[in-house]
Amino acid sequence: MSRIRVDELRKVYDVPGGQEVAVNGVNLDIPDTDFLTLLGPSGCGKTTTLRCIAGLETPTDGTVYYDDEDVTPKPAQERDISMVFQEIALYPHMKCIDNIAYPLKVRGVPKEERYERAREVAEVLEVGDLVEKHPAELSGGQRQRIAIARAIVREPRAFLMDEPMTGLDEKLKVIMRKELKRVVEETNQTVVYVTHSQEEAMMLSDHIAVMNDGQIEQVGSPNEVYGEPNNKFVATFVGMPEMNIWSGHVSGETIEVELEDGQLVEFKPRDDATRAKRKDNNSWADRTGDGVEVGFRPQALSIVPEGDGDVTADLKIIEPMGENNLCYLEVDDQEIRVVEEDVTDFDEQTTVGIDINRSHGYVFDGQTGSTIARTGDSPTVEAVESTSGHAATDD
Ligand code: ATP
Repeated sequence: MSRIRVDELRKVYDVPGGQEVAVNGVNLDIPDTDFLTLLGPSGCGKTTTLRCIAGLETPTDGTVYYDDEDVTPKPAQERDISMVFQEIALYPHMKCIDNIAYPLKVRGVPKEERYERAREVAEVLEVGDLVEKHPAELSGGQRQRIAIARAIVREPRAFLMDEPMTGLDEKLKVIMRKELKRVVEETNQTVVYVTHSQEEAMMLSDHIAVMNDGQIEQVGSPNEVYGEPNNKFVATFVGMPEMNIWSGHVSGETIEVELEDGQLVEFKPRDDATRAKRKDNNSWADRTGDGVEVGFRPQALSIVPEGDGDVTADLKIIEPMGENNLCYLEVDDQEIRVVEEDVTDFDEQTTVGIDINRSHGYVFDGQTGSTIARTGDSPTVEAVESTSGHAATDD
């Protein structure tokens, strides 16, 4: 197990008619035994970053370290890592036990020892009773477990996985996530994991690196990237359903948001939690006229009877999501998403009010998208996180 560091990584591909910058200045410091997930939309550079860490791609610029060793020039087979990819690549002519034991055979481990170890990891992954079968006789989920068993059968310096759950059905994904987390914890692996599924990232990771357009927007624990996003990209990419974003501007000590039908909503910025991260130290009065965007997660809004709350909107669709309902509302053509537990008092195609829990909002710089404040009066982020319910108290 190793600490992995990536320093100013860049990868540029020559493509017909020009160049494709896949990774553009990525820095990472992944502690030993950490589970770090690269999360981001399709094409943002996750796989390329992982392949450079693995030694399957040569960086255009930058350095990859395992502990203090510069491994950048080393090919993958000399890096002592294990990999699991989306496509499960088991040897079809070998029994599963032989597949699992194979990496030990390559390293010259005596026969008895390697089969003993292979049986041990098969038990850990609860496929002990399947190991005498051939891969073709197993389901997709069982094959995936055999592939993971093969990857962890020895103690590599790191465990690299690229979308290993793709192709499994939803129920199996949930089971596999739990198993993977348990196995990784039991075996103390350093893991770098690639996914575009935030659910997977949230459940599995110690840290998440949110990527966008070849760069890292934020590295933090799942709670940090969800609760303290650095910018609008992270705020809207992490969290389901997507955060509502409204345009506004600074007016003295207040932020004014004008919705599409002209309704005006005012917020008080609370910048103590983000001031330390800001480069400038301008007061809100100095910023008067500056464009901002205000973000509220659908969970921070609630539906109330028409005439109550902060905003009047048309309730268009109620989509049951199990314990909660995802409600789509409209103010002219502007969509507002609200998550509501109890919708028995409300009907689709009626006019309702929206109550805003002001202590749960985010203010983003209108130009850079950086988080420049939270809304509300509470003095600390901790106080905001511990606030529950929908009451709007500070206006
Ligand atoms: P996905 O989730 O869709 O797999 P990703 O975030 O893993 O996406 P990458 O596969 O790393 O993204 O690709 C980043 C960018 O680099 C994309 O625009 C992709 O088209 C480009 N790219 C990746 N590999 C190559 C290659 N071998 N040649 C040219 N361009 C490439």
